[in-house]
Amino acid sequence: MADILEQYAEVAGADVVRHLRQLAEPLKGAKVVHVNSTREGGGVAEILRKLVPLMQALELDTTWEVVTGEAEYYQCTKGFHNALQGFPVGISQAMLAAYEATNAQNAERLRPVLEEADFVFIHDPQPAPLLHFCPGRKGKWLWRCHIDVSRPYRAVWKYLRNWVQAYDASIFSLAAFAQRLPHPQYLIAPSIDPLSEKNMDLPPEEIDEVRRRFELNPDLPLVLQVSRFDRFKDPLGVIEAYRIVKRMTPLQLVLAGGGAADDPEGAVVLEEVRRAAADDPHIRVLLLPPDAHRTINALQRAADIVFQKSTKEGFGLTVAEAMWKGKPVIGGDTGGIRLQVIDHYTGFRVRTPEGAALRTRYLLHRRDEMEAMGARARRHVRENFLVTRHLREYLALMVSIQR
Ligand code: UDP
Repeated sequence: MADILEQYAEVAGADVVRHLRQLAEPLKGAKVVHVNSTREGGGVAEILRKLVPLMQALELDTTWEVVTGEAEYYQCTKGFHNALQGFPVGISQAMLAAYEATNAQNAERLRPVLEEADFVFIHDPQPAPLLHFCPGRKGKWLWRCHIDVSRPYRAVWKYLRNWVQAYDASIFSLAAFAQRLPHPQYLIAPSIDPLSEKNMDLPPEEIDEVRRRFELNPDLPLVLQVSRFDRFKDPLGVIEAYRIVKRMTPLQLVLAGGGAADDPEGAVVLEEVRRAAADDPHIRVLLLPPDAHRTINALQRAADIVFQKSTKEGFGLTVAEAMWKGKPVIGGDTGGIRLQVIDHYTGFRVRTPEGAALRTRYLLHRRDEMEAMGARARRHVRENFLVTRHLREYLALMVSIQR
């Protein structure tokens, strides 16, 4: 088990790993449970896939549980997601009842584990009421919010706040997301795993093979966006930006995404995207299976520029993933993208398709600048957004809250 940590010493430095071991010392044997609502799809699952084994390697007794429900539950929680990101959605009493009942049912199954745990990390709103259904809890409970709650739709936040305020603390990705809550709030930015299939180095032949598989033209500049098909990711805005660039500069666009088990709106948005792209042979809309990590890695490496034109974004792991591969990112000027894309330095932040098009054309005509930006982007991720830093902050928080 210790080996997994030693591998990180090579990428992040031996002192970083030594520091992690020191921090974990007083937490050894502690029971830690992470709870979210999907094992696959989206950033939270991506993070837990690595954070959980790393905590285990540090000898924290760590497990990952997933709450599940019926269609009405996921409709409700997708509604929460949209509302917290500022969209005024009405959520019916029936949906709220399904949300609460689903949490009560999941609590029946999870209660023995949750009540015994020393630390419970509840990720996002989907499992937030679990605390209420575990009256015999022993440990500290932390609500970890991954979404952009800078301007939540008040009616929905008021409802959720009732569940969240009973926690011992909450964790947000950015200061701009902090809320009025009666407990301490911590800021911890998410991270990527440099050794995962999504981010490891790949042989050039594998990148070529992916180009051939999706019939991409190796002689045409490639712009890419990887995202769930979700309106906040603005895939239609990406197509619009591409069309503006194309009037003057030839290029090709790939929009790659898959569904997440807890996201019921993906199919509708995918259909809108397919319709918008239908008449253009240089746009590929790829629906990928949830385990297509190497394919996404290869696409990110094959791209010249990576887009993340979100209109709301908690963090945007896809931004860090692309930057780690030395790509300049043209990202929406919002939420967690602001932490990563330093405007004119590691990429460009934009508000409109026209802005995205302008920056794309600028970079495509200045290869040197594109490479320099990409190199700065990679350095920025190495210094700030690798999983080792993320783990260190979680450990420090657990040590401080344990007392
Ligand atoms: N992702 C994936 N397959 C897809 C689309 C996305 O594996 O078809 C991954 C992507 O590489 C990233 C994560 O899912 O690691 C998405 O995280 P992000 O923070 O960008 O967005 P979220 O989906 O959490 O809003």
